[in-house]
Amino acid sequence: SAKNSGKRGYMIFNDAMHDAVAEKTQLVSRLRQALKNQELKVYYQPQFDMKTDSIEGFEALLRWESPEYGMMSPLKFIPLAEETGLIVEIGRWVLAQACAFSQDLYKSGQRRLWVAVNISVVQLIQEGFVQSVADVLAETGLSPEYLELEITESVLMEQLADNVRKLAELRAMGIRIALDDFGTGYSSLTYLKKLPITAVKMDKAFIDDIAAGGIDAAVTGTIIELSHQMGLSVVAEGVETETQFAFLKQKLCDTIQGYLISWPLPPEEFQNLIETGNKRLDGSKQDIQNTY
Ligand code: C2E
Ligand code: MG
Ligand code: MG
Ligand code: MG
Repeated sequence: SAKNSGKRGYMIFNDAMHDAVAEKTQLVSRLRQALKNQELKVYYQPQFDMKTDSIEGFEALLRWESPEYGMMSPLKFIPLAEETGLIVEIGRWVLAQACAFSQDLYKSGQRRLWVAVNISVVQLIQEGFVQSVADVLAETGLSPEYLELEITESVLMEQLADNVRKLAELRAMGIRIALDDFGTGYSSLTYLKKLPITAVKMDKAFIDDIAAGGIDAAVTGTIIELSHQMGLSVVAEGVETETQFAFLKQKLCDTIQGYLISWPLPPEEFQNLIETGNKRLDGSKQDIQNTY
């Protein structure tokens, strides 16, 4: 009867909900252990400077190599870490790892590269965030001008005044600030002027849309031009093809990042990449992809 099937439907729904909650609880408790058990790793992806034609920096990207779940995407576990507040501890750890790695590279005789680290808004809104960044710099000995913090555009707007004040404090210390995933959120170019930032990272969606002479390509070109007029440098993320590279170079994009240059690499492999002098795109691309 209708009543019975309704009841059964309810019970199934209830079980499914219970399963989802149990699964999430389990994932959170595993994530909590992951940091202790050294299952979290920081990978590094080169940032390629269009003017010097060489790798001048790198972005730290978090990886979770879980014995249970395999290699897990940050897109899956970062939101969970944010929800539970775990991101505060994890994010500080990533920052410390990345700054220490940058120092190690330099001390091993490599030229100075800048390091970019993603910061969650959950970290930014913590009372002691600015101080915790200063502490990590002091602990690792990294000069602030070689650190760039990436903040996602869409989340910055919550508690805007507070966030802007903190970013201004970080800027005053000499740290650079990049607006990540630009174009996916509030995408108003005029509001960029109000933010204490030094760079915009154009979202991959814009880079994907680069096609010969199309309207989307024109928008990408305009974003670069207007950003430059506001004194901001422009990073293109997710660059995968020579066509995109040529277009971005012609539009005077400052920095590019993407599989065309290299995948994100574990520290040892990133160090190899830099040491073997694969600084140029031409000819080295095949080597880079083989290395991975
Ligand atoms: P994001 O900061 O925008 O990072 C760019 C993402 O694009 C990375 O994904 C990177 O591996 C990927 N990528 C780079 N080049 C290419 C390319 O040519 N093609 C394609 N298809 N993808 C490319 P990933 O590593 O999975 O990270 C995803 C997001 O997770 C990041 O987006 C960032 O928002 C977040 N995330 C990663 N690590 C951290 C971290 O330590 N802290 C925080 N708060 N968030 C992080
Ligand atoms: Mg980023
Ligand atoms: Mg991004
Ligand atoms: Mg992105």
